[in-house]
Amino acid sequence: MSGLKVGLEIHGYLNIENRAKLFCDCRLDQNAAPNTNICPVCTAQPGSKPMLPNREALRSIVAVAAMLGCSINSRLVFQRKHYSWPDLPSGYQRTISGSYSFPVGVDGSFLGIGIEDVHLEEDPARWDPETGFVDYNRSGYPLAEIVTKPGFSSAEEVRIWVKRLLTTLSYIRAINAEAGIKCDVNVSVEPDFRRVEVKNVNSISGIVAAINHEAWRQGQMVSSGSVVAQETRAWNDALQETVFMRKKEQAVDYMFIPEPDLPVIHLDEAFIKSVSGSLPEKPHEKLEKYISKLKLERGDAEVISSEILLAELFEKVAVEVSPVLAARWMRRELLRVLNYNRKELHELELKEKHIVQLLRLIESKKISDEVARRMIEKLAVKPFDVDEYIRKEGLSVVSEEEIGKACDDVISANGKAVADFAAGEEKALNFLVGQVVARTKGRADARVVREMMLKKLVN
Ligand SMILES: [Zn+2]
Repeated sequence: MSGLKVGLEIHGYLNIENRAKLFCDCRLDQNAAPNTNICPVCTAQPGSKPMLPNREALRSIVAVAAMLGCSINSRLVFQRKHYSWPDLPSGYQRTISGSYSFPVGVDGSFLGIGIEDVHLEEDPARWDPETGFVDYNRSGYPLAEIVTKPGFSSAEEVRIWVKRLLTTLSYIRAINAEAGIKCDVNVSVEPDFRRVEVKNVNSISGIVAAINHEAWRQGQMVSSGSVVAQETRAWNDALQETVFMRKKEQAVDYMFIPEPDLPVIHLDEAFIKSVSGSLPEKPHEKLEKYISKLKLERGDAEVISSEILLAELFEKVAVEVSPVLAARWMRRELLRVLNYNRKELHELELKEKHIVQLLRLIESKKISDEVARRMIEKLAVKPFDVDEYIRKEGLSVVSEEEIGKACDDVISANGKAVADFAAGEEKALNFLVGQVVARTKGRADARVVREMMLKKLVN
């Protein structure tokens, strides 16, 4: 889709360890009963003053900005952004954005898209326009806002980019993914590229739908000879379309002033360095490394690099055994077992040395794939010494003689299948191989059995 320009303003909840709000000690708990995690500060009682900003939130936002390649501003000035709305008890929102502010990070770039700025602000309360009920539990919780340049030219490009952004931020556990994202999407089309801002988009699928709808709506206007108005619209998820909110002339004046109750926050050099220095490699850097250096298949590399714990486990294991083999088994079998058990990697007591033991046995063909799969299933339940278990249970691959003997037995006991195969029925071979594997209780490698069986049947 040419002639389309899209920029994003993405809000995400900071995932901070102490889970406290930005200017008070109240906790964020998604499941708490309404209005239980509140205090005079986050409900803006007369005379209440903010505490100094939560240091962990500052650390997190600096990490986000650094991860996106921004230069970090060491002097942070919180602003009051004024507007009157039932979700905002004080009548203003504290933010490090606006006319007199320098965002936490500027001039970054992520996967080819310019990052205009990264800043920090507090979340308003949750207001239900139907009932008028206000829940202040999330009021004052730290939000990260990431503003991109209008560098996207299709909805699909945006979809992939946002997914990669969230994966990257999950590497540093900076954004609380389960709390969701809120996004404003700026869409404009040629020839004039007048910016239309779409507010309140709350999911990746919503972002894609909003862009497609706006591209279509603005395209219709241009082709019918009218001029696209610069305006603010809202995304209606139920209707799957954007609806008019206000014209550019009606733009809200937020009357920004520096927050008089807070000092200028100075982030010292050592703090910024310690945060940027502790950042992990980015997922797309890992992906490239896995493909070009470790020679993984792209599919395996994509899955492994998409989750930091999996990537870290893989990298430790890949020093000891063939990376390609490790990737294949971790991607297919380990993830299969995780999915089956509905567990995440961090919930398992998986020891890297046991995975290495298992992969070595597979690599040297000492156990069959079938036995290896069973071992992964067992390791997902609790850790154990794989070498010892295989020895004790006699699970190593059976010798060629033993397989040969089992083949002979199966051939003489299944005359009909042998005749069917001779008559050209491929399926009969599978049946015979299955019989041999069953006789060896899965210890014989099906490929080896198949080869041997073929030899015996053809000769
Ligand atoms: Zn509070």
